[in-house]
Amino acid sequence: DATGRETLGFQTEVKQLLQLMIHSLYSNKEIFLRELVSNASDAADKLRFEALANPELLKDDPDLKVRVEYDSKAATIAVADNGIGMSRDELIENLGTIARSGTAEFLSQMTGDEKSDARLIGQFGVGFYSAFIVADKVVVESRRAGLPADQSVRWESDGQGEFTIETVERSERGTRVTLHLKPDEQEFLDGFRLQNLIRKYSDHIAFPVELDDLSDDEKKAEAVNSATALWTRSRSDFSDDEYQEFYKHLSHDFSDPLCWSHNRVEGKRQYTSLIYIPANAPFDLWNRDAPRGLKLYVQRVFIMDDAEQLLPLYLRFVKGVVDSSDLPLNVSRELLQKNPDIDAMRSALTRRVLDMLSKLANNEPDKYATCWAAFGDVLK
Ligand code: ADP
Repeated sequence: DATGRETLGFQTEVKQLLQLMIHSLYSNKEIFLRELVSNASDAADKLRFEALANPELLKDDPDLKVRVEYDSKAATIAVADNGIGMSRDELIENLGTIARSGTAEFLSQMTGDEKSDARLIGQFGVGFYSAFIVADKVVVESRRAGLPADQSVRWESDGQGEFTIETVERSERGTRVTLHLKPDEQEFLDGFRLQNLIRKYSDHIAFPVELDDLSDDEKKAEAVNSATALWTRSRSDFSDDEYQEFYKHLSHDFSDPLCWSHNRVEGKRQYTSLIYIPANAPFDLWNRDAPRGLKLYVQRVFIMDDAEQLLPLYLRFVKGVVDSSDLPLNVSRELLQKNPDIDAMRSALTRRVLDMLSKLANNEPDKYATCWAAFGDVLK
């Protein structure tokens, strides 16, 4: 058939993770919105990066943004972005499997006990699948930047073990994730509630997040967040809560970090760093291939996740962002390996983290003990 409609099974680990997530995160269910907006913002970041080399990609729809739409009649909430989008293969790969190795072993530690499983899921990081906490059907429509309208895809699942995928036409670039809310979750179909959630969780997202009531034709969508990346603003503009929310956006961890440090370095090299010490070790701390390093931006443009060169291996548990004013926008992983600016930044950032740890040891011994319990073996 022309649409190439297929029904595929989730990888076993996805099925397990979905079960775990739905049961253990129930008391925290509103985080689905944070996770979906976070993914949408990452997609916008990735497109802006690809467009550095290929400006055509942005041309017909240059204003990157995220839109949250709700429809009380249809009982749906959608999170739409005009970011990088996904091709058919990327959709199957990203939303049908879990690529991180060690996942199966990790999931085998599940006990069925809500409290300890909730702690486990925190080590794993939630994400797209959190949609199934509140939805009994999720539809993803996507068009990859650079692909024609007739190579768009539609993915649909009830989260029970299978998903269908088919080729569709889509005039817009990017991704739209539609949640068909479970009968008990209709409380989310409330403009004030959604606006508050977006402000609480996504104020620091660098792109406008608009809220749109689809059942009201008169009202126009409006941006409800501040739409400037947190680290670019001054420390005094932010409360601890906002720093903590930004950490959760970065890490997909849902516990609070132990501490953070936000600094602007002026002088020969100019950069801003925002660094966090998490409270819990990720499940794959000892896995060689696990992602590590800081998220790198150059002049506010996202360049890469997990820039390993910015910190030594023994600080692989540290999360954060570095935004450089000096590096070239076309910097690659190879270039990072032999760049004197990077070496200098790495020394300065290492010193910064060690300072944070010694301050923690002196001023907040309880938190330091938590840190040592989680990461002591890595630091030794
Ligand atoms: P994570 O964000 O931690 O990688 P998720 O399960 O949330 O995990 O998403 C898996 C992958 O699916 C992402 O890494 C990304 O490649 C892709 N993805 C999710 N949402 C979007 C989106 N809105 N646009 C483009 N790609 C997306």
